[in-house]
Amino acid sequence: MEIFIEDIPTEGLHLKGELPDTIFGLDPKDSIRPAGPVHYSIDIYSFEDGVSLTGSLGGPFQLQCGTCLEYFDFEANFPNWTSNLDTEEGQISFDPTIEIREDILMGLPSSPRCDDFAEGHVCPKAHLLEETRDESSDDEGEDDDDGRNVWGALDQIS
Ligand SMILES: [Zn+2]
Repeated sequence: MEIFIEDIPTEGLHLKGELPDTIFGLDPKDSIRPAGPVHYSIDIYSFEDGVSLTGSLGGPFQLQCGTCLEYFDFEANFPNWTSNLDTEEGQISFDPTIEIREDILMGLPSSPRCDDFAEGHVCPKAHLLEETRDESSDDEGEDDDDGRNVWGALDQIS
C-alpha cells in the first residue's frame, strides 16, 4: 500500500480496509501465527517533516502459549493506535503497511499463557509453571525476540 504524501489533504486522509496476513511473513513455526486479514481504520495527517497515523487496528492470531506450547486463538485489537513517521526531504510516498505490521507484532503479548485469554480453560502445564515461577520471574525485560527464541528452543526439546 503506497500513500503519496501530496495526496493527503490538510483535514487528513481516512483509510479503511484489510491487509492480507501475508504481510507478516512469519515462519509457520513462529510463536505468532496470523489467522486472517488485518483490518484497519486510520487517519493519516501530513506535516512538514513527517506523517502521523492514528486509528484502530485488529486481526485474528494464534499465539503459542509460553507454558504448554500449544497455540490458542487471540484477537488482536488496538483501538487507539498512533504512529509517527519521519519523512526525508524529497520523499514522495510511504507504505503504512510497514508501521501497521511492526506495531501489531510489538503489541502482541510476549510469552502469553493460554488460560489468560480463554475463559474456563486451564493451561495443561500450569502446574509446572507454579514450581518454576520464582526462577523465571527475572525473564521480564527481555525483548520479544529473545522470549520467542527461548520458547522455540523448548519446543524442539519436547
Ligand atoms: Zn498453555
